[in-house]
Amino acid sequence: MARAALLGRLTWQLANVVELVEETARVRSIVLDPPAWPGHRAGQHVDVRLTAEDGYQAQRSYSIASAPEDGYLMLTVERLEDGEVSPYLADELRPGDELELRGPVGGYFVWEESLGGPLLLVAGGSGVVPLRAMLCHHRAVESIVPVRLLYSARSLEEVVYRDELMRMAAADQIDIRFTLTREQPEGWQGYGRRIDRELLDEVSWPPGEHPLVYVCGPTGFVEATANALVELGHEPARIRTERFGPTGG
Ligand SMILES: Cc1cc2nc3c(=O)[nH]c(=O)nc-3n(C[C@H](O)[C@H](O)[C@H](O)COP(=O)(O)OP(=O)(O)OC[C@H]3O[C@@H](n4cnc5c(N)ncnc54)[C@H](O)[C@@H]3O)c2cc1C
Repeated sequence: MARAALLGRLTWQLANVVELVEETARVRSIVLDPPAWPGHRAGQHVDVRLTAEDGYQAQRSYSIASAPEDGYLMLTVERLEDGEVSPYLADELRPGDELELRGPVGGYFVWEESLGGPLLLVAGGSGVVPLRAMLCHHRAVESIVPVRLLYSARSLEEVVYRDELMRMAAADQIDIRFTLTREQPEGWQGYGRRIDRELLDEVSWPPGEHPLVYVCGPTGFVEATANALVELGHEPARIRTERFGPTGG
């Protein structure tokens, strides 16, 4: 990477908050307009830094939800009740505020058309965020790579981007399967348990077709899913993972 581009990526900048979108009761999207954005690849994240009046700073990573083609930067944050940073982003931030960030960061948990597929995306909770960027990128470049999303959420109300994903499934012929681990609505036709080996075996392409797999969510979820995929015979080198946090669920 050229020196100027690298320096740009590592430099903190103040981005204007353009819009806030309530995705679920605990999850909010933040649309930003950074003044010097070098562009990003689907799957990358940014670092966000908050500074208190007394100078105390806290920094966290947030995946980029928007596609490279979108022309704006969108983050999607789940509020953790006892968290230091996420309650501010999910509750306090207002349009017109400024948010300090730097990026994009990361080059491994990235999908672009040239990497091919078939593409299996596996999300746990808010782990769907970078996978949304990949789905939107797939659509924007009119990719013909076959793609499936397997999304585990506690209930239908907790499915982030629910209407958008439903529309994508209907219009783009993207194969989307949900599993609702705690609460299923009346007449629910999808899965109703945590992702396990059998479920992955049903949803994935067989290992012989060498699917490229991206798994993102809480640490425990990512580890259990990646282990199950390897036990099923998928090549570890074709499984890319992103861990959001320390707990399972
Ligand atoms: C590469 C990367 C990308 C990320 N992208 C996103 C994203 O797109 N959206 C998003 O909402 N978060 C994302 N995260 C998680 C995010 O960085 C923070 O960890 C999260 O928002 C919690 O920060 P906090 O300050 O509110 O909680 P903290 O004060 O750090 O932690 C509060 C409590 O919650 C626990 N905890 C911390 N993180 C999690 C978690 N993810 N799940 C469950 N428990 C947790 C801690 O152990 C602690 O007990 C990402 C993390 C990484 C590493």
